Amino acid sequence: MDWLFSGIRTRLAWVGLAAGLCWQAGFAAVPAADPDALIRQIYQLQVTDHARSLQVLAQLNQQAASLTPAQQWQMRYLNAWEVMYQGDYAKSESLLDDIIRHSGDPLLADRASAMLLSQLGAARHYTEAFELANRVAARLPQVTDAKVRRLLLSNLSQVMGSAGQTDLAVRYARMAIAAVPAGESQCYPASILVEALYYGKRLKSDSPELRQAFDDCPAAKAPLYNTNLYFMLAEELLREGQPRQVLALLDRIQPSVDANGYVPAQRSAQVDRATALAAIGQDDDAKRMALAVVAQGKSGDIDAWLKDAYQVLYRIEKKQGNAAAALDYYEKFAALDKAYLDDVHARAMAYETVQQHVLAQNLETERLGQQNAELLVQQKLAAKTAEASRLYLLLLLMALGFAAMWMYRLKRSQLRFERLSRLDGLTAIYNRQHFMGEAERMLQQLAKRNGAACLAFIDLDHFKRINDTHGHAMGDEVLRCMVAACKQHLRAVDLFGRLGGEEFGILLVDCSREQGIAIAERMRVTIEATVVEFDDVAVTASTSIGLAFTDAAGHDLRRLCADADAALYRAKHDGRNRVMAGVGDLEPA
Ligand code: GH3
Ligand code: MG
Ligand code: MG
Repeated sequence: MDWLFSGIRTRLAWVGLAAGLCWQAGFAAVPAADPDALIRQIYQLQVTDHARSLQVLAQLNQQAASLTPAQQWQMRYLNAWEVMYQGDYAKSESLLDDIIRHSGDPLLADRASAMLLSQLGAARHYTEAFELANRVAARLPQVTDAKVRRLLLSNLSQVMGSAGQTDLAVRYARMAIAAVPAGESQCYPASILVEALYYGKRLKSDSPELRQAFDDCPAAKAPLYNTNLYFMLAEELLREGQPRQVLALLDRIQPSVDANGYVPAQRSAQVDRATALAAIGQDDDAKRMALAVVAQGKSGDIDAWLKDAYQVLYRIEKKQGNAAAALDYYEKFAALDKAYLDDVHARAMAYETVQQHVLAQNLETERLGQQNAELLVQQKLAAKTAEASRLYLLLLLMALGFAAMWMYRLKRSQLRFERLSRLDGLTAIYNRQHFMGEAERMLQQLAKRNGAACLAFIDLDHFKRINDTHGHAMGDEVLRCMVAACKQHLRAVDLFGRLGGEEFGILLVDCSREQGIAIAERMRVTIEATVVEFDDVAVTASTSIGLAFTDAAGHDLRRLCADADAALYRAKHDGRNRVMAGVGDLEPA
């Protein structure tokens, strides 16, 4: 028979939701003119004496113009509560939203969030309710005020319970009970816990949680909660097949239900009574009570009381054999039951949708985080690559620099060796090999343009004696001085080389026979006049010079050398220290 009662749960839960919004504070009556005192009074009276709380709220609203901004926000919160109590959810929703967004008071905003949480459920705005539940749950660690924390946890419990999340609802309710400061009433969270168990079909008429809640919510101090607990107990007793106990229980709370004037409670009492009466066979009374509920019902709404009333009526008509009436009630009952089940389904769907949305958002956040991390790695990599590129470039430049320097030094030493290889080590003029090569090349050039040149062979006279007398070093010095003396009479274009020992060759370029003889003579005179000093010893030397001319021998080097050699030989033979011109030219220069 579970399905029979499944519809009743909802109406009790939303009774709980509405009742659960109050803000309990224990304080004595105060002079009414003080707005803060009025506010506190309203909070207290909301659940203990609702009619009186309305009067005080009206008084507060009259003083609205003289209230501080903070007091005005408090007043708006209390107005929202009242508007919601009266069932105008659209209005209270906008009032609460205004408080959450604009009051600038985190405590009041949290309380408004808690109330909005309940009221979104009551208004069947399930998706919004579960979205808000997620925001509230995320904010919980920052909520330090014990009372607000208890309120938020309690209402979270209710919303989760409505989505069929019983474990979560029970956990939140127990957390709410734990959040109650020592010495303060646990009535509200205790009844929320009972509700969570009731929703999850885990409540029994003898459940310790229910007994505890009755202890925490005595009729004198918390009549609305107390009544609500009795309704849940009544549902359980009906489920357990104890209709007479239910009737006794309803008789006991009826005065309180009447005093509160809370319509849902009144209709719950009527429906439970009708069901219990039908169960014990008092069909007429049951029918009368059920028809009273039907008379108050609004068609088109998901009306759980109406549904249960039709259920009672259908069963009675069926029992009495009124098939047509039974079918009529059954159809009405079935339509409402379907609407109710659809609503249960809608809640579960909304919950799942919001959770999936959150999951997707988390995944997206995670993905973005991952993307960021990848981007960071890429950036680091790029930076590293750039750094490495710079390093490679530097290394390359350094290598190039080294290579260039190395090549430069190599070339320089190459050139140096080349130069050295062309020069005579002692006198620094061309050596024989280079002299000959260059002389040949220059003679070829001269031959092309028919230019004249003289070749002079110079040989120091009795040089061996100088070596023998003064040593080899003096000989070297004499050789150097002799070269310096000759250079004084030569041009840059002339070619000067040491042919070996104390013999030298000079190619006088673009030089006529006469000019050649004159230059040679001047060299001979200079050498003769040169005093060579070395190690405090001074010596002089003379030279013999043999000349050859292109006008006689042509531009062939070998011919010229032979002529010059012959002339030199004659100069030696004729007594040395003289210049002798080429072959066939027997006259001394
Ligand atoms: P002459 O008048 O016939 O030319 O007699 P000379 O002594 O000059 O000729 P000779 O060919 O007999 O001797 C040449 C000497 O030159 C022999 C050698 O020791 C010396 N000589 C050759 N090269 C060098 C050198 O580089 N330094 C020194 N100090 N002596 C050298
Ligand atoms: Mg010689
Ligand atoms: Mg000699």
